[in-house]
Amino acid sequence: MKEFKRTLVTCALPYANGPVHIGHLAGVYVPADIYVRYLRMRGKETLFVCGSDEHGVPITIKARKEGCSPQDIVDKYHGIIKKSFKDFGIDFDIYSRTSSKIHHQTASEFFKKLYDEGKFIEKESLQYFDEQANTFLADRYIVGTCPKCGNEGAYGDQCEKCGSTLSPEELINPHSAISGGALVKKATKHWYLPLDQYEGWLKEWILEGHKEWKTNVYGQCKSWLDGGLLPRAVSRDLDWGVPVPVEGAEGKVL
Ligand SMILES: [Zn+2]
Repeated sequence: MKEFKRTLVTCALPYANGPVHIGHLAGVYVPADIYVRYLRMRGKETLFVCGSDEHGVPITIKARKEGCSPQDIVDKYHGIIKKSFKDFGIDFDIYSRTSSKIHHQTASEFFKKLYDEGKFIEKESLQYFDEQANTFLADRYIVGTCPKCGNEGAYGDQCEKCGSTLSPEELINPHSAISGGALVKKATKHWYLPLDQYEGWLKEWILEGHKEWKTNVYGQCKSWLDGGLLPRAVSRDLDWGVPVPVEGAEGKVL
């Protein structure tokens, strides 16, 4: 195994729209905590950092359903999650949150640097918009009838009854999962990281350079690389998150 001078250990950030459950603890946080303790017993300089993931669409939807603000939701669950870790003896040096000032600053700086260097593609596309709720909708929040099996509760990305992968265009009678209302298509501009331009060195770096990665992680990356990488949107239309730090990006977050 490779020896490092110092080691930073981190884990997947728990999403702050509910409590952590025992599966999360057993699968992720307890193993990481054990590894950190092991390194420290061997006298290795180690930092153990994690935090709550407090942005994204599901939190805004939960807030809407419960009649409170997204901030109320994340304050509640960040507190619960942090306390669960403490009670289970999982001992982070830093347990932060993505709504913190430093996270907003750092994320903005990443975007600004890439933006200033001209690394993004700007692209306008038509996306589904819920006029009643005044919001663009992710595929998951569009429901309708599955064209393959007739299930009336199919999602815009998948039918959970027959397992088909879908796009919102394929749904019969698509409507909003948030308001139940009809949808319109509206043009919106977003920034994309052209991952296809980096495919060459990513292939070499991952497939040749990191054969020691866990089989499922390596296999997932390999299947994406073999299928050809696509430009990936780094922004979305939402009023909850880290604002896109450029002019003309009002109402868009990273
Ligand atoms: Zn179906």
